[in-house]
Amino acid sequence: MNNIYMDNGATTPVDREVIKAMEPYFDQLYGNPSSFHSFGREARNAITEARDEVAQLICADEAKEIVFTSGGTEADNYAIKGVASALEGQGKHIITSAIEHHAVLHTCEYLEKERGFEVTYLPVDEDGLVDPQDVKDAICEETILITIMLANNEVGTIQPIAEIGEIAKDAEVIFHTDAVQAVGTIPVDVNQLNVDLLALSAHKFNGPKGVGALYIRKGTKIKKFLHGGAQERNRRATTENVAGIVGLGKAAELARKSLNKKREQLTILRDKLINGIEEKIDHIKLNGHRTKRLPGNVNFSLRYIEGESILMKLDLEGIAASSGSACTSGSLDPSHVLLAMGLTHEIAHGSLRLTLGKYNTEEEVDRVLEVLPRVVEDLRAMSPIYNR
Ligand code: PLP
Repeated sequence: MNNIYMDNGATTPVDREVIKAMEPYFDQLYGNPSSFHSFGREARNAITEARDEVAQLICADEAKEIVFTSGGTEADNYAIKGVASALEGQGKHIITSAIEHHAVLHTCEYLEKERGFEVTYLPVDEDGLVDPQDVKDAICEETILITIMLANNEVGTIQPIAEIGEIAKDAEVIFHTDAVQAVGTIPVDVNQLNVDLLALSAHKFNGPKGVGALYIRKGTKIKKFLHGGAQERNRRATTENVAGIVGLGKAAELARKSLNKKREQLTILRDKLINGIEEKIDHIKLNGHRTKRLPGNVNFSLRYIEGESILMKLDLEGIAASSGSACTSGSLDPSHVLLAMGLTHEIAHGSLRLTLGKYNTEEEVDRVLEVLPRVVEDLRAMSPIYNR
C-alpha cells in the first residue's frame, strides 16, 4: 500500500501539467522580463498570461489588480503593512479575528508593538465563525483596515466575508481577506465578496511553493514595502520568479476549469471521513462548522489522546496527517484557533487534522477509516486517565 497524504492544508503536490508549463522557463525561456530583447519579451508575455489566469480565477475586473508575491505570507504582510503605512495619518486602528493565520496575527502584533497601532482581535463562536455584527460594532473613527480570513486553515470554517465586506464598504474601511486556503478549492469572486485586498498562494492548489499573489482593487490606498526596481508596475521590486509565476498561472487555470468537480469530489470524501470517524470512534468532537467548511477539511478533537502521538502512529502506518497548521506544529502550545473556539487546553492538544486534495481516493479514505480507530484504541489503552 502506498503512503497516504492527507495534509493538503499544509501543501499540495504540484500538478504534472504545472511542472510541464514551468520547465522551459528555467533553461530555454530564461530571459529577464525587464529586458528589451526577445528573451525578455517571452518571459514578460508568460507573466502577462499568468496574471490573466489569476485574475480570472478570482473574478478581478482587471489583470493589473494582481501583484505577484513570494507566497501567502508576503501577500498578507503587503496588504496589512501597506495599508497601515498609507493611512497611519488618518487612523491607527485595525480589526482582525483571533483565529487568523500567523501571517496576519504576527503582522498585526508587529504594528501594535512597534508602530503604535491598536488592534481589535474579534472573538469567534464555537464553530469558529466571526459575527459580522461584532465587526460593525468594532469600527470607529480611527479604523483604517479590516482583515478577516476567508477560510480557516485548521478547522476549515468559511467566514461570512461578503457580509463583512458590505459593512466595510458602508463604513469606507479597506477590507483585506486571507484567502490562501480557499482560492483554487471553492469559488472566489472579489466583487461578490466586497474585498479590496485578497491574498492567495500557489502551493495550496497544486502549484509551486514560494509564489503567490495579492489582489489590490483599483484605487485602494496602499504603500509598497519592497523598494528597488520598478517591477510589478512599481509595486514590488525584485526580478520576477518567472517559472513560479507561470506555475501559479497554470495552477489557476486548472483550478478554474475543474473547480466544481474538485469541490464535489472533496465534499463526498470529506463527509465519508467525518461520518465514518463519528461512527467508529467515541469521545470525539468535530471542530469547525459542519457545513460552512472547506470541502477537504476534517478536524477532530480526540479525548484521552495526545496530538503528537497520534501523528507518529499514523505516520508509521503510512498516513500523513497533522495536528493543526504546519506552521505551529513543533510548538507545544495548543492551537490558538481551537482555544479561541472555546476548547480547553487539554482537549485542544488532542486534535487531528486530515486535509484532502484532488489526488485522494475513496480507497484511501477507507484505509484511514480502518487504521484510525485501531490507532486511537491503542493510544487510549496506554492512557492512565482513559477508562473504557
Ligand atoms: N494564510 C493561510 C490561511 C495559510 O494557510 C497559509 C499557509 O499555511 C498562509 C497564509 C501562508 O502562505 P505561504 O505558505 O504561501 O506563505
